[in-house]
Amino acid sequence: MPAIDAWFDEKTLLDMAPPDVFLRGASAAEHGSVQILEHDADHLRARVEDTEVLESEFWLSDGKLRWSCTCGAAEAHPCEHLVASALATWPGEAPSVE
Ligand SMILES: [Zn+2]
Repeated sequence: MPAIDAWFDEKTLLDMAPPDVFLRGASAAEHGSVQILEHDADHLRARVEDTEVLESEFWLSDGKLRWSCTCGAAEAHPCEHLVASALATWPGEAPSVE
């Protein structure tokens, strides 16, 4: 299991993102709007379809989780697209690109 996956459990995500953001992200992941583009030990990049197509990225730096999203709303905490991307790494949640 890639090391970055340790950050993507429900409790850790809820510690980082406000509950309403988490719920919107969970619903986006459930509706299949996330496509994982890259996923390795310290990096996750995904494409999320919302009203526009966004690109969300998590990476590890000095043992801490960092993130960015092209929606521009992911400063203080991960936005719903980032939450959706993280949840999409759970087995069976989203198809990954071969
Ligand atoms: Zn976003």
